[in-house]
Amino acid sequence: MAALSQLLAHIYTMTLVFFTILILELVIFVRSITDTISDSGRGRPITTKQYLKLIDEKNPVSRFKTASINPAGFSDTCAVCLSAFEDGEQVRKLKCKHIFHKDCLDTWLQQDSATCPLCRNKVLPEEIVVKFRQHRNQQTEYEGSDEELIFLLSALHGNYIRRFL
Ligand SMILES: [Zn+2]
Ligand SMILES: [Zn+2]
Repeated sequence: MAALSQLLAHIYTMTLVFFTILILELVIFVRSITDTISDSGRGRPITTKQYLKLIDEKNPVSRFKTASINPAGFSDTCAVCLSAFEDGEQVRKLKCKHIFHKDCLDTWLQQDSATCPLCRNKVLPEEIVVKFRQHRNQQTEYEGSDEELIFLLSALHGNYIRRFL
């Protein structure tokens, strides 16, 4: 009799663990599908690569030449890193005529708002910035919870194996 109830308890635990794993795997599966759907949707978020490409299209990069310092008397130092431009350095000129190091400005535009660090002129349309932020938020969100889920799954699998082998 004791053996029977033990067996029943085993079966019960086994079923419970099995369904928990099934549900978790289902969650991961459904999430991967919704990811694909939202990727092909019209309002899809803009990836970092696309975002930088858009910046590049509207504000091309050029090499800095001392002789080319703008006649309007704009600063010859990068307002982001506060160092002077050197000949041959990659710089990006915005529509407002402000010049920054390409790398400094690209980092700034990704972290801060998509505006000129000096005069706050808009570099990209608001809707593009919103979509890019969406992509970034999604990324951090998914990375975190997927890792947790996978950890939980492996813990469950490990528990299951230890118990029944
Ligand atoms: Zn700089
Ligand atoms: Zn500016």
